Amino acid sequence: MNYLRRLNWFMQYLSALFRFPKDDPAQATRARHTLMSLVSSLTIISFTLYCSHIGLFRLAPDTLLWFVALAIAIHALFYALICTGLNRRFADPSMTMAQIVASILWMMFVLYFIDQVRGAVLVLYMVIFVFGIFRLRIAQFIGAAIFALAGYAFVIALLAYLRPQSIDVRIEVLQWVLLAMVLPWFALIGAYISNIRSALRQKNKELENALEIIERLVSHDELTGVYSRRCILDALRREQARAERESRQFCLALFDLDLFKSINDCHGHLAGDDVLRSFAECVQLDVRQIDYFGRYGGEEFALLIADADLALAGDIVERIRARVEQHAFPHVDRQVTVSIGVAQYRAGESVNDLIGHADRALYAAKASGRNRVAQAAA
Ligand code: GH3
Ligand code: MG
Ligand code: MG
Repeated sequence: MNYLRRLNWFMQYLSALFRFPKDDPAQATRARHTLMSLVSSLTIISFTLYCSHIGLFRLAPDTLLWFVALAIAIHALFYALICTGLNRRFADPSMTMAQIVASILWMMFVLYFIDQVRGAVLVLYMVIFVFGIFRLRIAQFIGAAIFALAGYAFVIALLAYLRPQSIDVRIEVLQWVLLAMVLPWFALIGAYISNIRSALRQKNKELENALEIIERLVSHDELTGVYSRRCILDALRREQARAERESRQFCLALFDLDLFKSINDCHGHLAGDDVLRSFAECVQLDVRQIDYFGRYGGEEFALLIADADLALAGDIVERIRARVEQHAFPHVDRQVTVSIGVAQYRAGESVNDLIGHADRALYAAKASGRNRVAQAAA
């Protein structure tokens, strides 16, 4: 596993050496696979060159070198297509099938010219098809296997016809049958792996969706859709740290709907819920982008007013109070009002201290007759 990781790392390093579309992971993966396919071809080519060196290849070394150059040029072409992005125009931009067909053609060439070790060369088909396992669909894989078998049969027929003294047809046919028996297993494993991958993709997608829902549930209030208490508290802690760091000002306003219990008592809980939703919508009209408005609990709400002193915060919440007073709430035939306590953060105090000040101001607003804004002493 470690070696696989290192190989992958090496491929990524190679990829970085050439200029890949770094912003396009799919292209980078294709480029990496193309490099891996080049490396696998190089093993086959090295083997061929060695056979030629020890006199097992019936083609002049010079001529063989031309073919080697051609094979490498074909790989370079695949690579260049990816680098230039031209591969995106193809039905299969990873060009897996084309690369496998090119490798099979090279195998046919080797099988035709090699002497004595033709059977051993067949093992190299496995290298080619291992690539197919991960990347081809089952139908494509079967197509590639049929092409490989037909190619080998063609080479056997050609040799039997042109150079009958150089082969034993019975043994070649036996080898062909063996290859035909092995390749379907590759196809089966390929299909199995491909199923696992798509199941994994599906599961990942479901997990992502679930995570999104959980995040939303944690950060938002279910009834009103505004931020949750936890989210507001987090925002307050962040704002407090920022205020300490950058000597900024901010304020906290606490809202409590007036005589809300009697709304529930007169119109029922569902109507009460509608009032809460409608109240949240109404307030949000006056909330700036940089502020945080959320449900603190029950019929109490909180507004973090960023970059504001008590005077500005007082103006903002007074506007909200007046808007709520004017608002026609559905399902209740009476005026709904809100009392608001607002406090400015004082350097060095805790978030709890700030909440305490806003809460005391809210209490004062209630005590002095409701439907009003009270400011904590600066
Ligand atoms: P005050 O002006 O002093 O705030 O009076 P109040 O009636 O608003 O205060 P109190 O704390 O007595 O009542 C709050 C009520 O809010 C009681 C509770 O049933 C109701 N409430 C809390 N959460 C919800 C909710 O989610 N939906 C509904 N419909 N009512 C809720
Ligand atoms: Mg209350
Ligand atoms: Mg209340």
